[in-house]
Amino acid sequence: MAKAPKKVKIRTYNVGFGDCFLLSFDYGSGSERHVLIDFGSTGLPEGLPATRMMDIANQIKQRTNGKLHAVVATHRHKDHISGFETKKGGKGTGDVIRSLKPKLVIQPWTEDPDLDPKATGPKAKMKSSKKKIQGKLRRIGPDSIKQVTALNYMNGIAQQMLTARNLPMAVKGELSFLGQTNLANRSAVENLMTMAKNSYVHCGSKSGLESLLPGVKVHVLGPPTVEQTDTIKKQRSSDPDQFWQFQAKALGSDDAVAEQKQILFPKYVEARDSRFPIRARWLRYHARMMRGEQMLQIVRMLDQQMNNTSVILVFQIGKTLLLFPGDAQIENWQFALDQKKYQSLLRNVNLYKVGHHGSRNATPMDLWNHFHNRSKTKKPARLKSLMSTMAGKHGHEHSKTEVPRSTLVHALESETDFFTTQQLENKALFKDTELTF
Ligand SMILES: [Zn+2]
Repeated sequence: MAKAPKKVKIRTYNVGFGDCFLLSFDYGSGSERHVLIDFGSTGLPEGLPATRMMDIANQIKQRTNGKLHAVVATHRHKDHISGFETKKGGKGTGDVIRSLKPKLVIQPWTEDPDLDPKATGPKAKMKSSKKKIQGKLRRIGPDSIKQVTALNYMNGIAQQMLTARNLPMAVKGELSFLGQTNLANRSAVENLMTMAKNSYVHCGSKSGLESLLPGVKVHVLGPPTVEQTDTIKKQRSSDPDQFWQFQAKALGSDDAVAEQKQILFPKYVEARDSRFPIRARWLRYHARMMRGEQMLQIVRMLDQQMNNTSVILVFQIGKTLLLFPGDAQIENWQFALDQKKYQSLLRNVNLYKVGHHGSRNATPMDLWNHFHNRSKTKKPARLKSLMSTMAGKHGHEHSKTEVPRSTLVHALESETDFFTTQQLENKALFKDTELTF
């Protein structure tokens, strides 16, 4: 086998709303090493067969010749790990992946079972010796451990939100979507924990991938631990310099026009609920709406906290750099973006997996502005971008939170060689992108 790969093929699978990328490093004479980054979905486009996830699992098996070298599960959300679910009799998609015998599973430090003092079941059984935990404590610290416990509670809160009754339709859809996304996914979590050697990473730590991928350097840029930074705890969701929601006016897009429009008598007032006089209907609607909005707010916060546990990886082969940030949002990015050594890495990125399915707050302006290979004219060295997404699942156009965010998509289209899974026909399982070194 050659000392370094000659090319890499990135297979973007069509999982609807979710992520699934297979990186195949080609070392020549038929020798390849495969790394699977995420495998999950929270929604398939209409018309797709229910067997889609199993079709993909089998396709991964075929593509890898039955041997996967490593798995990266960027974070615990369903749209990134549901494909790792197992079923009785070994019939789950996660059973197929497990049968490919990966040597290593990479996850964020927040998934480390040693750090959860309240863990039960298989987690508790897997606990290492006290000495080992103390070693980790030196690197990670007590505030980080509290964070892990808090994250584990979040799954329970999401579960409760799902059972809430009598909510207005306007919030029901998003509440249910975010609730589902944040459920515990127990079988997938346990499968990831036990299918291979585990590497729980944080900013600056070793990935463990180097020995599996000769000639490839892997940099871990996130997530930071709580001790590394406390910015992860502060949501900066309205920082106008970093986000894509305020770009509409500058671009003169339809969003700016929509913002001016006020709907005077929305449909709910005309609803046929004649038990209440028309003004009371207005009050009743808003009272329910407030409760719904508050619940949504809480679930949105939980959702963002979990996104901020995403592993951010840069694969470096010679001078070529591939950036895979999962769903990392600004608070996760900030720690790496503040450091010179990572700034120069990010500046020269050649391929960018668009963060969080193209949402407004996962491609911070600082990051976007760093990308040196962006260009309005097509040329071989132009930045490539890959996005896995599905419209209509997450956020709303009127609040400029829709995913994918139109202003970001415009920028990706005009300044990168852009691919989104939305370009695929329903029956297409994947699209390949190749980089030669
Ligand atoms: Zn996601």
